[in-house]
Amino acid sequence: MTPGTTLVWLKRDLRLADHAPLHEAQRHGRALVLFIIEPEWLASPECDPMHVGFVLESVAELRARGLPVLVREGPAVNVLETLRQAHGVTRLLSHEETGPGWSYARDRAVTAWCRQHGVAWTETPQTGVVRRLRSRLGWAGRWQARMDAPALPVVDPASWSTPPGLLLADLPTPSALGLPPHGRTLQPAGEAAAQRTLHDFLAGRGRDYRRALSSPLSAAEGCSRLSPHLAFGTLSLRTVHQATEARIAALAADAQAEERSFAHALRGFAGRLRWHCHFMQKLEDEPAIEFRNFARSADGLRPGDDGVPMSALDQERLAAWQEGRTGHPMVDACMRSLRATGWLNFRMRAMLVSFAAYHLWLHWREPGLFLARQFLDFEAGIHWSQMQMQSGTTGINTLRMYSPTKQMRDHDPDGVFVRRWVPEWDSDAYPAPIVDERAALTAARERLWALRDTRDARAEADTIQQRHGSRRSGLPPSGPAARRGRRPAAPAKMPEAPFQGTLFD
Ligand SMILES: Cc1cc2nc3c(=O)[nH]c(=O)nc-3n(C[C@H](O)[C@H](O)[C@H](O)COP(=O)(O)OP(=O)(O)OC[C@H]3O[C@@H](n4cnc5c(N)ncnc54)[C@H](O)[C@@H]3O)c2cc1C
Repeated sequence: MTPGTTLVWLKRDLRLADHAPLHEAQRHGRALVLFIIEPEWLASPECDPMHVGFVLESVAELRARGLPVLVREGPAVNVLETLRQAHGVTRLLSHEETGPGWSYARDRAVTAWCRQHGVAWTETPQTGVVRRLRSRLGWAGRWQARMDAPALPVVDPASWSTPPGLLLADLPTPSALGLPPHGRTLQPAGEAAAQRTLHDFLAGRGRDYRRALSSPLSAAEGCSRLSPHLAFGTLSLRTVHQATEARIAALAADAQAEERSFAHALRGFAGRLRWHCHFMQKLEDEPAIEFRNFARSADGLRPGDDGVPMSALDQERLAAWQEGRTGHPMVDACMRSLRATGWLNFRMRAMLVSFAAYHLWLHWREPGLFLARQFLDFEAGIHWSQMQMQSGTTGINTLRMYSPTKQMRDHDPDGVFVRRWVPEWDSDAYPAPIVDERAALTAARERLWALRDTRDARAEADTIQQRHGSRRSGLPPSGPAARRGRRPAAPAKMPEAPFQGTLFD
């Protein structure tokens, strides 16, 4: 019997380094490499042309380095079946994916197709997210073991053998796919850019990480900016983890205090790589959190939730928030900056969501879809968990309400960032604030307290904590100690303990 063809299906893993499916395929002789432009992706409400551009540029780079990536448009099952018939595909290799609902449905359809045609599909994890996880107990140890496992060597495209006569058509452009120009100035795509970004962060840019990350003035330079690369897999999380740990070890061994303080900064960064998977695990364990509240006791709380229509005023406020014309300068500056660059630092993302959820009292789904289209690094598991956390619907986290006025005072005291993005700020052309900050926050806090103080909500919080709460420190601090800038005493205190109170930040 002639051996069948192996097919490597690239998804969010557009790289040659530390790539298990490509590595494995080299052992099987003839192998095809495929990227599918799926209509479900292009039509999904989270997808923006900038995402498609980033992916196509990354694929173009792989081809330029000699990897013969086939690019096909169409529903995954149709594309796979066409290739199976033409090339006798019997083995499918890919990475596991924890994505939005449409990708989950597609994976189920591909599983059924594999079964029908006797195709063996091997999916390999590429993050610390665990499939079919029974309990969060021991999760952190599994994360560590995966991240510490040896990274795989870079695949050499020159040694690649493809079926004879295989022709690679030109890559489609976003406009050929019917997409409008995105008009943003974005960070570069591709594995080489990802490696450069990691290298210059660890070499020096990350020195001031802990101080730089909160202000939108310093964060664009002082944060790693690896998020789109991790989201589209132009770099593996393990590569980042291992390079960071090696750098920390070298810096910590240095006698100079400055170098040791750099090591301390990088430890803060290293912890965030764990958060990446901690939040994605929530979507993996409960895919419905993309659409509905973690805490069902919060159902129907705000306009925009299922069965609660938005009024004309709600619609107008949502539009003002999206367009950066709320009359709250820090909110408007952050939104306009995000729309122009596809990136914003964590604190300001949280402030934008807090403003939509508490000041404007809007359900998180519409604002979340809008932000997904603005973030070049859209990663469903992180995004929807964070949208709910910053909107107070997880049932377990401390309510954190950001005052845009305080954020400006703390992080842009001279108005440099605000003037850059809202030049009309101190002129008559700038609109009056659409809400009274203090009154809106007080009302929001009272409504949420009333809800969370019920027996049902408290019982539900325990269940959510069991299922999704972290089991060790080193995860996002959310208690009163965090407010004072300290970590909760490790390791006994759980950062995601059931609801404690409200923080005004
Ligand atoms: C409402 C909201 C939505 C968000 N949506 C996304 C998203 O779609 N995709 C995304 O990658 N991040 C998201 N984040 C988390 C965070 O804002 C970004 O990861 C970070 O700003 C990316 O910049 P960076 O790579 O320079 O981060 P760095 O500070 O350099 O961190 C390095 C990496 O750690 C991970 N990380 C950092 N902060 C967090 C966090 N709070 N939670 C989980 N992982 C984290 C990311 O992978 C990031 O690339 C969201 C945050 C909020 C508040």
